[in-house]
Parts: sequence; C-alpha cells; structure tokens
Amino acid sequence: MGTGLTYLRKTTSPEATKQLASTLAPYLRAGDVIVLSGDLGAGKTQFVQGVAAGLGVRAPVTSPTFNILLSYPEGTLPLHHFDLYRLDDIDELEDIGFYETLDADGASFVEWGEKFPDALPYGYLDVVVTVDAEGNRVVRVHAFGDRARRLLTVWANDSKSRLMKCAGGTA
Ligand code: ADP
Ligand code: MG
Repeated sequence: MGTGLTYLRKTTSPEATKQLASTLAPYLRAGDVIVLSGDLGAGKTQFVQGVAAGLGVRAPVTSPTFNILLSYPEGTLPLHHFDLYRLDDIDELEDIGFYETLDADGASFVEWGEKFPDALPYGYLDVVVTVDAEGNRVVRVHAFGDRARRLLTVWANDSKSRLMKCAGGTA
C-alpha cells in the first residue's frame, strides 16, 4: 500500500461510470499507467470506454480479453487497453509488448494487472471497482508514486469527477 489518499465514487449506472472515467481523460499523459481491478462484470471495460470517449476516440472500444491488447491511436492521446485475464505466465508479457507499450506514446489501462504485481511499474493509478448489495458500483482510486498522486489530485479536484476523499486503502 502506498501513502496518500484514496478517493471514491459510487456509480448507479454504466453511463455514470463512463462519465466518471471521461473526466480523467484531459489529465492523462504519455506514460501514465492505470491498473483496473474488480470481478468479471464489475465495470472495468466500461471505465475504459469512458476514458476513450473523453479522449475523442470514435472507434468502438471492446474488451481485449481475447486480443490481450487493443490500441486506439486516434484520440487526443493514444490509448492502450490491456486485459491480462487470460494470461498465465508473466513471461508472456514481453511477447505481447507490455513493457514497451507502457513506456510509449500513450496512456495504458490494464485490466487484471494485479495478477502480475512484479510486472507493474513503480508508479501507477489503481482503480478498483466493486459491486455493492444494490448492484451499484463503488470505484476506488489510489495512487502509487508522485506522478500518479499528481494525476489523482487534479482529477479529483475537477468537480465533474465527483470523487470524494476517503480514509483507507483500495482493498
Ligand atoms: P469488466 O470489464 O469489469 O469485466 P464490463 O465493463 O465489461 O466489466 O461490464 C460491466 C457490466 O456491468 C456491463 O454489462 C454494464 O452494463 C453493467 N453495469 C451495471 N451497472 C454498472 C455501473 N454502475 N458501472 C459500470 N457497469 C455497470
Ligand atoms: Mg473487461
């Protein structure tokens, strides 16, 4: 667990999750890494769809579960979307260009990145989506490293994000 704040927002619809995610888009920079965790069907891909919309990506954003990596170069910043669900071995990450892509021209969103903690960079934004008893989603965001902390701070300061400070970690 890193130091610093955790923010959260409860969303009551897929549209609200996408709206939250779209408000992150203007603050992203090349090299930013966002790890998305949460059960199958929690809303990780919905979140990436919202980011894509915020970046002005017009192509449909689908789950890269089978492709592992799908990239969208046409927005204001290239968007790389990984889904590591089907990967079993950390060595496969090199084959799919994981490390190169993270260091490249765009922002990278990694579903199931927590499966391979040793593969994650020093700094990243951790987004955890959970489903509450009513079926609403709770999106918790925690930052690791200085750049991610700054990113989270500016995002949370944007009133359109409606993120709220909360005590404790991302668990
Ligand atoms: P994941 O990528 O985490 O496996 P998806 O984003 O593909 O999940 O799917 C999430 C599913 O949950 C979608 O069918 C979506 O319509 C539904 N859903 C219901 N409520 C929400 C919500 N508040 N936020 C996001 N998705 C929601
Ligand atoms: Mg998904």
